[in-house]
Amino acid sequence: METITHNLIAVYIQIFCFQFLLFPFNVIFTIIFAYFSHIIVDAFSILTYHTPDAHKDDKFWLYWHIIIYALSAASIVVFIVPFWLSIISANIMDLWDWFIIRPIQRRKKKKDPESEWKSPLYLHASVDWFRRNLLFWLPRWTYKKGGIVVEIIVILIFSLLVIPYYI
Ligand SMILES: [Zn+2]
Repeated sequence: METITHNLIAVYIQIFCFQFLLFPFNVIFTIIFAYFSHIIVDAFSILTYHTPDAHKDDKFWLYWHIIIYALSAASIVVFIVPFWLSIISANIMDLWDWFIIRPIQRRKKKKDPESEWKSPLYLHASVDWFRRNLLFWLPRWTYKKGGIVVEIIVILIFSLLVIPYYI
């Protein structure tokens, strides 16, 4: 799913842990739950419109991504203080895989096109495992435009859960 979805769930996890647990368990479990939330949320993202490749010539794809990227950026600005701990924990997998492991792999592929895409340090392998073994019964809507409804519902639910913290 998208960064804003990961962030909202992470923020709720931190609120929950800091409400019910004492130091240092609030910090420890915020990190653990936020990290694992990324795996679960990403595994369920087959239920959302999530094309692996960019479709910039498709207006629907383009507008949806402009909106969701803007909201994702805004969610970081709004939540980073005081929720940096859960935000970083929930996004570390994407930062690591997309900005470190994948670029390394791309460079390797350039040198040797035959090389296989197999890195033991690729953290999203756990997402694939979770999906393959536990969510194989789910339909795959990654190319279905209606899949944005699922993402929007999740965003709305967690926005409603987080709002009381701010009022
Ligand atoms: Zn991810």
